[in-house]
Amino acid sequence: MEDCLFCKIVAGEIPGDVVHATERTVAFRDVNPQAPTHVLVVPRAHHANAAELAAEDPQASAELLTTAAAVAAAEGYADYRLVFNTGAGVGQTVFHTHLHLLAGRPMTWPPG
Ligand code: 5GP
Ligand code: ZN
Repeated sequence: MEDCLFCKIVAGEIPGDVVHATERTVAFRDVNPQAPTHVLVVPRAHHANAAELAAEDPQASAELLTTAAAVAAAEGYADYRLVFNTGAGVGQTVFHTHLHLLAGRPMTWPPG
């Protein structure tokens, strides 16, 4: 999709600190990390949010989770948090769905 930041990172048109890639996903470090490990896992194809991805490509949807688990394990974390912000009202700012993987510090519940 034109003018989508994460499509451009997937395509290599904008640099990203890529830590893992699979057939359907790319994982790269968040530019503004909120934890010692803060990685975004995105589908290669453009889908606006997690529910649309799940409806349109269930395999890629599952691969986001297995990729996140692989990255957490590679970074040495058994405990981690996964977040999909869906909608501007809860903080989604990039409308190419992305799974936040956060690990490496204590976390509180509920999230802010
Ligand atoms: P959202 O707020 O949509 O759930 O998450 C978007 C995330 O993308 C934010 O955590 C933000 O720091 C990250 N982000 C924004 N621009 C860039 C960028 O150019 N590169 C990378 N790696 N992350 C970005
Ligand atoms: Zn996109």
